Amino acid sequence: MAAKFDLNDSSVVVIIGSGAGGGVLANELAHKGIRVVVLEAGKRLQMGDIRNDEVAMFGLFTWMDPRTSSGTWSVAKTSPTLPVWTCKLVGGTTVHWAGVALRFQEHEFKTRTRYGNIGGANLIDWPIDLKELEPYYERAEEKMGVSGTHGWPLLPVSNHGKVLFAGAKRIGYKDFRVPTMAINSVPRDGRASCQQTGFCVQGCTFQAKWSTMYTEIPRAEETGKAEIRAESQALRIEHDALGKVTGVVYADSKGAQHRQKARIVCVAANAIETPRLLLNSESSLFPQGMGNSSGQVGRNYLKHTTGTVFAVFDKPVHMYRGTSQSGIVMDEARLNTSRGFVGGYNMELLPQGLPSFAQNVIPGGWGRERAWVLDRYANVAGLWIIGEDMPRETNRITVHLDKKDQFGMPIPDVHFDDHPNDTAMREHGYKQGAALYDSLGAKKIITVPPYPSTHNMGTARMSERARDGVVNKFGQSHDVKNLFVSDGSQFASSGGENPTLTIVALALRQSEYIEEQMKGGAI
Ligand SMILES: Cc1cc2nc3c(=O)[nH]c(=O)nc-3n(C[C@H](O)[C@H](O)[C@H](O)COP(=O)(O)OP(=O)(O)OC[C@H]3O[C@@H](n4cnc5c(N)ncnc54)[C@H](O)[C@@H]3O)c2cc1C
Ligand code: SF4
Repeated sequence: MAAKFDLNDSSVVVIIGSGAGGGVLANELAHKGIRVVVLEAGKRLQMGDIRNDEVAMFGLFTWMDPRTSSGTWSVAKTSPTLPVWTCKLVGGTTVHWAGVALRFQEHEFKTRTRYGNIGGANLIDWPIDLKELEPYYERAEEKMGVSGTHGWPLLPVSNHGKVLFAGAKRIGYKDFRVPTMAINSVPRDGRASCQQTGFCVQGCTFQAKWSTMYTEIPRAEETGKAEIRAESQALRIEHDALGKVTGVVYADSKGAQHRQKARIVCVAANAIETPRLLLNSESSLFPQGMGNSSGQVGRNYLKHTTGTVFAVFDKPVHMYRGTSQSGIVMDEARLNTSRGFVGGYNMELLPQGLPSFAQNVIPGGWGRERAWVLDRYANVAGLWIIGEDMPRETNRITVHLDKKDQFGMPIPDVHFDDHPNDTAMREHGYKQGAALYDSLGAKKIITVPPYPSTHNMGTARMSERARDGVVNKFGQSHDVKNLFVSDGSQFASSGGENPTLTIVALALRQSEYIEEQMKGGAI
């Protein structure tokens, strides 16, 4: 039975956010007998609310509270008030995500050592390496039911994927396949196997796709040790005279404010809201924001170097059928500086439903070209470039002191300028993507600039030295021992892989550390 804790109960661990990081951490701690309160800004939906409707689900899931953007990145022009695509509901962005679950490569944990000193980039090595994370990757894959691991078969390739693979083969690539995905390829965990309906990003009515909404969160509640408080937006973390965290002030759906006391606070609000909350928790002791003596909170924002290549063919592709991202080309993910940039990128299928395709494919108004492409929607294939971007101190989340949300909390600005390495990588990806589809006789190739960022990382990064980052290798604040960061904000580099498997692996590892530290009385 779900627990109910008193606001004055200072023995609880308060977790802010119920997505990949927060949901997993809550379940792990609850199973260890640790009492947990999860504060989640969004609503709690039921499965019956989820429908195979792209437009309606975007409206239902997405974090639409005001945000601004600045900098020279294209998103600041194309999507100035929605620079980032994250969710606001119990389950967080794991309700929307597509399920691609890849491990980082060894060199991506050691970018400063492997890439050297890249001008204009603020590279550091992670304070952990692949070897240290491997056991947690194993456990994360098992927990999430990642197809293609632990003896579960890979998902079948869609027709869209077959087109991708045919082009990849023609231009000489060798490493193309169905990616490992946190989507059941066989029934397991009380959930169905993938039914190939193609609405993965709309929430998966079959629950074949792993989401904390219907796995970690109810499991945590079943222990009787976890309380999920939906429609509870954390506004500020508080501390005592010694700088130890004491609780969280939050607003309920009516705007009434409450103060939940805490022994430990873990922030897992996604990499825009996490630094926003820390910056908003400034005080006379922490004038730059909580956990920010290094000045690094909000900086080194990473979002992956992205771009899309669409191709129109003579014959049908039906990109919208089957598991959305059941195809990946990994040849360019390797480190190979002869291409003129460091890091690497993957090419993943990017099917779009007609509403978003119509909006995104050719930015700008209605015209002959757009009509021609839309007429051939069934014949379109698309791939998404997702590559490592460079951390920069100036790519950062700040808060507006003069612009506030409905609860009076300063709203965030997302500032980003592409590093020359990012631009070179994107151009390479566009060229290779076009060559891949050209090799199959595409009638038209369209390259599309980045969409609002779905992979947000780096804004409270882990570092060996306190001055280079915000948290240590367990996600524990360098400044405040009972404050943790438990989401992708911890990443010290973005890698060329989708981030969620790594977020979950880090949450598993962090839960063990928190238990150990609590038992030893250190926090
Ligand atoms: C369309 C789409 C497709 C994606 N596909 C993939 C994929 O295939 N593979 C992959 O690895 N990743 C994918 N991602 C990214 C993935 O969803 C994120 O990496 C992951 O969910 C991040 O986990 P998180 O815990 O950091 O944040 P989230 O899952 O976003 O959870 C954060 C939660 O915190 C809550 N919150 C924020 N601020 C507050 C506050 N002040 N108080 C209380 N609650 C708060 C939010 O409402 C939210 O519920 C995709 C994302 C999108 C949008
Ligand atoms: S294709 Fe599979 S994972 Fe995607 S929505 Fe359908 S059942 Fe769910």
